[in-house]
Amino acid sequence: MKVLVVGPGGREHAMITSLLRDPHVSEVHAAPGNAGIAQDVPVHPLNAQDPEAVVALARELAADLVVVGPEAPLVAGVADALREAGIPVFGPSREAARIEGSKAFAKEVMAAANVPTARAVATTDLAEVREAFERFGAPHVVKDDGLAAGKGVVVTEDRDRAEAHARECLDAGGSVLVEEYLDGPEVSLFVLSDGTHVVPLLPAQDFKRVRDGDQGPNTGGMGAYTPLDWLPEGFTQEVVERVARPVVDELRRRGTPFTGVLYCGLAVTAQGVRVIEFNARFGDPETQSVLAMLETPLGSLLLDAAQGRLCEERELEWRPGASVTIVLAAKNYPGAPRTGDPVTGLDDAAAEPGVHVCHAGTVRNEAGEIVSAGGRVLTVVAHGADLREARERGYRGIRRIGLDGSHHRGDIALAAAEDRVG
Ligand code: ATP
Repeated sequence: MKVLVVGPGGREHAMITSLLRDPHVSEVHAAPGNAGIAQDVPVHPLNAQDPEAVVALARELAADLVVVGPEAPLVAGVADALREAGIPVFGPSREAARIEGSKAFAKEVMAAANVPTARAVATTDLAEVREAFERFGAPHVVKDDGLAAGKGVVVTEDRDRAEAHARECLDAGGSVLVEEYLDGPEVSLFVLSDGTHVVPLLPAQDFKRVRDGDQGPNTGGMGAYTPLDWLPEGFTQEVVERVARPVVDELRRRGTPFTGVLYCGLAVTAQGVRVIEFNARFGDPETQSVLAMLETPLGSLLLDAAQGRLCEERELEWRPGASVTIVLAAKNYPGAPRTGDPVTGLDDAAAEPGVHVCHAGTVRNEAGEIVSAGGRVLTVVAHGADLREARERGYRGIRRIGLDGSHHRGDIALAAAEDRVG
């Protein structure tokens, strides 16, 4: 099987690493990829948001499967165009991807499917925003209703700050969602779907804030780990039955079946599990940790999903132990990152036992050096017998890497490794 992976980041590099382990996968191509991906497979320069260009490349390569990594190409209709061209694609249609792109739409689907989530008010009116603040109380949760890469959400005790954020979104012509605050640890569960059937992967936890102790601004994610031994027994099955299956059923009922990965962002509250958000694609960096644990060949699984043949009865196989992913970010991230700095020590990091590196924002410069090209530059992914060992290995790996001005969190999976979560 020949697979084309669309996207430029650490998540795509992790998928490619897994696909290359699948004995049924004979060839992997990436578009546009990055400097690390280019070391592993052929890469093709391409505007990933141009549906016709992706179809043309898939045809030229005679790809048996196209896997769309990021959300932007899905929103641009890349999966629709591939499907229309008769090319198997893992990734939802533009319509189904609205489950991520519009928070108000996600709330509407959840209400129709009776899925537990935070109470919310979607509005374009500041007076209604104020009423919702009164009704739900502090901390206040205000969300810009659109794709904002984790930066459109403000969670704060400070009512003035919450109101200022709402006003900013409304002044920009958008609508906002004011939500009840969900108190409890967050969990990401990726659920594969072929539009009808649902197959969950391992739950993972990610770390959104830029600094240790969950301080500083939100980011795209600074690290992740799996498994989550502190979760209650039967958690995954509960999420499948109460969240993923009803949503997949509802989207199919509406004539917009969801084929791809439904990323369930959840809060484990005292009242039970609640949905914070959905994404229509794999999360980065949780994917790196989850796929590092997956023994079941990934290519066949994604092709089954693309072709409506997912088998719910088949148990996925997982490596024993644990996996920890640590993101190395460029200077200033999540602000405008400094780019163009050489990255050193990559081979030394990968030589650490149980460690591999997935590139995100990297390119090769004219001198042939790998240099930073984005905010999240790379992820160090470590496997170990348990979280403690995976952390030790991951941090040994990341200390081998040199990138001027870079930063990373020092506490990824620390609380879980010390049995302090849940
Ligand atoms: P992402 O880039 O993660 O997809 P997003 O813009 O879609 O972000 P959300 O995921 O809805 O926004 O929210 C971002 C973060 O804000 C969540 O990961 C969570 O930590 C926090 N958050 C969101 N909603 C709530 C809530 N109702 N109660 C408590 N915290 C919340």
